[in-house]
Formats: sequence, structure tokens, C-alpha cells
Amino acid sequence: THFGFETVTESEKTQRVAGVFTSVAESYDKMNDLMSFGWHRIWKDHFVTSLSPGLSSPSHPQAPQHILDIAGGTGDIAFRHLHHAHVLNANPNVAVTISDINPAMLAVGRQRAAERLPLASQRAALSFLEADATDLRAAGVPDASVDLYTVAFGIRNFTDIPAALREAYRVLKPGGVFACLEFSKADAHPLFNAVYKRWSFSAIPLIGQLVAGDRDSYQYLVESIERFPSQEQFRDMIVDAGFVVGGTGYEDLTGGVAAIHKGVKP
Ligand code: SAM
Repeated sequence: THFGFETVTESEKTQRVAGVFTSVAESYDKMNDLMSFGWHRIWKDHFVTSLSPGLSSPSHPQAPQHILDIAGGTGDIAFRHLHHAHVLNANPNVAVTISDINPAMLAVGRQRAAERLPLASQRAALSFLEADATDLRAAGVPDASVDLYTVAFGIRNFTDIPAALREAYRVLKPGGVFACLEFSKADAHPLFNAVYKRWSFSAIPLIGQLVAGDRDSYQYLVESIERFPSQEQFRDMIVDAGFVVGGTGYEDLTGGVAAIHKGVKP
């Protein structure tokens, strides 16, 4: 492989992951659309809708909620949270923190927030935090301070996924929800899987080279998807971290190309 992550130390891996995302931050949107035929937008919409941030009950109208969007980079998930909460659920008491390890991604997020959030209440409810998801304590995130923890297309890049899950558990309040959107295994349908594998291993690095001028970063992204655990294995890791899951603990999207996992802190 181009990076050979298995042979490098944890801190080297963290640095290289940061490097990958600095080089892709700029062409990020264009690439996501090209690589997924626009599907990532539909997955993200569904992810946030399924969480209905800001949903109030008659006994607690406009209940305050603190959402932490981990690996939130360019704001794709956070802006959806703020739209859903402040506009659809008419709850201005929902605050969202975008957290990412990479300052270049946060800078893109800041710039976009100014362009894409129409309401002053949404912009005021948004904050940014540079932090490593595997050590949120170092960034000062207190125990039991978060109602909803989201991570979309981020967790597979983390050096130590169990550590990130432990941190998610620590920062959530009892009753708080962990929700993850991530690429997953599409192997339930062999023919679909064969086409998907062929697309990801040959077309994505090529598109990366042609559009972003960066084949290696996209080769790494494809390999990181391949290495990430199956739906069931990842669900078991979430349970090992202490979360309670309902049903199978996950929902497949587009035949398992992506999946949503959820857990509740008891
Ligand atoms: N959530 C956004 C989305 O769905 O479009 C961004 C996903 S982007 C593919 C992955 C992000 O993970 C990058 O912004 C990267 O900087 C961040 N990241 C990688 N390792 C991290 C870590 N250890 N802690 C926090 N963020 C990390």
C-alpha cells in the first residue's frame, strides 16, 4: 500500500491522517459527490432526520440539547442538525459543537457556517473545537456533558476506535445517544458487491488523481473502508464500550455501502 499504516507508530498514523485531510479539504465536496454519485447527501439527510435533533416533548418544550459532532470537519452534519433543530423542530435551544483534529477542516467549516446558516440563532448556537476524538479530555470536554454524539465518515480513520468509543461514553449524559454514519460492508448481495468493489478500487483513486490531483489520499480512503469492521463487529465494539443498542444495533444504507449505528448510554 502507499501508506502501510500497519507498520507505523500510532502518532505517525495520526499525523498522516491529518495530512490526508489537509490535502483533501479543498476539493472535498466535489469529490464526495463524484465518488458516491451524490448518495452521501441522502445518507447524511437520513442520518440527521432519524435523530430528529431538537425534538421536544409536551412536558419539555424546546428542551436544551448539546450536540457534539465529532470529525465534523466541514460542517456537513452540524449544519443539518441546526436546520432540523432550529427550523423544523423550532427549537433554538439546541447547540452544536463541531469537533475535528484538523484545523484546515475546521477553517473550511467556519467559512461555510457564515455562508450556509441563514439564521442568526443557528450561527450563535455553533462552536468549534480542535480535538482528537480518542482523547476529548485533553480538549476539556467534561464527563456527562453531551446529549447527542454524532460521527459521520470519521471513525474509521481513528487510530484507536475503542478509545474513541470510551470517550463518547464518558462525555455523554446518561440517556444520551451515540450515532455513527460510516461506510460498511455491502457483501449481502454478491453481484452488487462485485460492482461496488471494482468501482472503489479502480475508479476512486483515478478520480482522486484527475480531480484532486491526489491519488494516494483516495487510495488510502478506499483501503480504510476495506479495513473497517463489519456491521456486526462494529456493533459489538459499541456494546463493549457500555452502550445499549436496540434490535440489531444498526441500519444498512444502499445495500450496506454505508450503515448507521446507534447506542444509548444507560
Ligand atoms: N463528518 C464530515 C462529513 O461527513 O463530511 C467529515 C468527514 S471526513 C471524511 C473525516 C474527518 O475526520 C476529517 O475532517 C479528519 O480531520 C477527521 N479526523 C481524523 N482523525 C481524527 C481524530 N482522531 N479525531 C477527530 N477527527 C479526526
